[in-house]
Amino acid sequence: AKRAGSHGMAVHDPSMTDRRAADAALGEDIAVALERGQLHVVYQPIVDLEDGRPLAAETLLRWQHPRLGPVPPDQFIPIAERNGAINAIGLWVLDQACRQAVEWDARYVSVNLSPRQLQEPTIVHDVLAVLRRTGLDPERLVLEVTESAIVDENAGIPALRALRSYGIRIAIDDFGTGYSSLHYLTRMPVDILKIDRTFVNELNGTSEGAAVTEAVIRLSQALHLTTIAEGIETEEQAAELRELGCTRGQGYLYARPHPAEELDWNRFATSPS
Ligand code: C2E
Ligand code: CA
Ligand code: CA
Ligand code: CA
Repeated sequence: AKRAGSHGMAVHDPSMTDRRAADAALGEDIAVALERGQLHVVYQPIVDLEDGRPLAAETLLRWQHPRLGPVPPDQFIPIAERNGAINAIGLWVLDQACRQAVEWDARYVSVNLSPRQLQEPTIVHDVLAVLRRTGLDPERLVLEVTESAIVDENAGIPALRALRSYGIRIAIDDFGTGYSSLHYLTRMPVDILKIDRTFVNELNGTSEGAAVTEAVIRLSQALHLTTIAEGIETEEQAAELRELGCTRGQGYLYARPHPAEELDWNRFATSPS
């Protein structure tokens, strides 16, 4: 790392330099993690807030690094996004999820799609190929994208429209944390809004705490979208969400993410609709 020189040159924060080196190393490791069998997926149930019954599940990626142990996705996904490794990894996650969903009575399986994947010219073809290969009905797949992925990348919208025309549904993830113009939303190919857990966290029985969550629920209702509240940790939050008219949710209160075989599939609705 450069130190501040006598002629006042730009100072490189040493911790920043270390961080970059670590990220570069992690980037090389994530690029080979898939072929080395270090990745697996876990599933978190999405439940009916009325009775807590699981309706669907979100697929979440896990990386067991040979030296570092488990590395959280918030740490390695942005790196895989930058170096492009996310493209192959994301399709692998989709394949795993679709294969699993074919065996389940769950209504649908949800898979995160990174902005980089959405920009790939072959994304629509690739997703359809996975559905064909696994035999999953497109109506049983939900793709989660972030607001910024849609708003920033104009290229993403035609791809989402095309995917949707095959019956795949689109959810906006972490809704409320991006800068999306609300007006834009009426023209977006979207079926589901996921309320970010920072807003669910603010539910504390006051109207101020509920303001954003309530606004998102009303907006969803007006646009005939489904709302899913994320990160529900307490019964009080669940009760307040029900009162506000939110019908679906996920969070540690109901279940943490688990490997498929550890989830109690018998609690899934037996007649998908
Ligand atoms: P996300 O898509 O918003 O996923 C929800 C995150 O919240 C997950 O973290 C989940 O474990 C966590 N969570 C669920 N319920 C609760 C709760 O009640 N309280 C708290 N505090 N957290 C809860 P996770 O698995 O660490 O994933 C972090 C992020 O990494 C995801 O956020 C998503 O943006 C990204 N990610 C994970 N898997 C994939 C993937 O396969 N592809 C892509 N592109 N991104 C992924
Ligand atoms: Ca998500
Ligand atoms: Ca989210
Ligand atoms: Ca998130």
